Amino acid sequence: MKRLMLPEGHQKPMNVKQITQEERQKAFNLPKKSEVIEKQKLQVRYHVEDFYVEDRPKRFLKAFAAILKHSNYRLALEHYVRVSAKCSRCTTNCQVYLATGDLEDIPCKRSELLLAVYRRHFTIGGMLRGRLTNDPGLTDEQLQAMADSFWNCTACRRCSLECPIGIDHGLVTHLGRYILSEIGIAPRALVVSTREQLIGATANTSAIPVPALLDTLEFLSEDMEEEKGINIPFPIDQEGAEYLFIPAVSDYLM
Ligand code: SF4
Ligand code: SF4
Repeated sequence: MKRLMLPEGHQKPMNVKQITQEERQKAFNLPKKSEVIEKQKLQVRYHVEDFYVEDRPKRFLKAFAAILKHSNYRLALEHYVRVSAKCSRCTTNCQVYLATGDLEDIPCKRSELLLAVYRRHFTIGGMLRGRLTNDPGLTDEQLQAMADSFWNCTACRRCSLECPIGIDHGLVTHLGRYILSEIGIAPRALVVSTREQLIGATANTSAIPVPALLDTLEFLSEDMEEEKGINIPFPIDQEGAEYLFIPAVSDYLM
């Protein structure tokens, strides 16, 4: 694993412990059966749902074009593809890069994966250059790199605070994931839990049934009464209630 030097005068702003090579391998290289990799035609550590796997570059570009047409991402991308100073200041604030020390986790490098596609396929200069140099354009290898990288970023946007020209890597990460998921490349666990929340019977990401939820709240109420001596009920679907309690879904799993 190669290390990048921080820009001169920059100290690590956070006390982040760098993970070892073994820890990284453990976290990133989950064992996946070779037949699954073959079926998904993707070397990533997460599973994807069964999806059409042919012509991914073509479908990626089609989805990208549609998103550009119906959103205002183009405004930001037009700026980003022209200005990066490659100064690496963003590395000083990215907790992911500081923890892994892996060049692939440099915010600017990750965003460049998508910006290169935009530059090549959606700018006049890129399209002309492509024709003149017979560049075939987006490849499966580039898609593989994006599928690998865009789920490592937490989209927290800390790095953009350090960038002198305001490149928002969180926004680029979101866009990259958006396009990838349009062609079926997204961690299956995330897709399943989000689907459950949006259209599932339980309407929450962990598929906790209502009786279990009510039971947990009752237990919490009794616990507080026992410990603090006050009775705090939790209003459920109650119009005009004085307060609203929204706990993390994990509270119900404990
Ligand atoms: S948005 Fe991504 S790249 Fe930027 S600091 Fe957060 S994790 Fe790092
Ligand atoms: S994204 Fe900003 S901070 Fe990072 S290398 Fe490019 S110009 Fe520098």
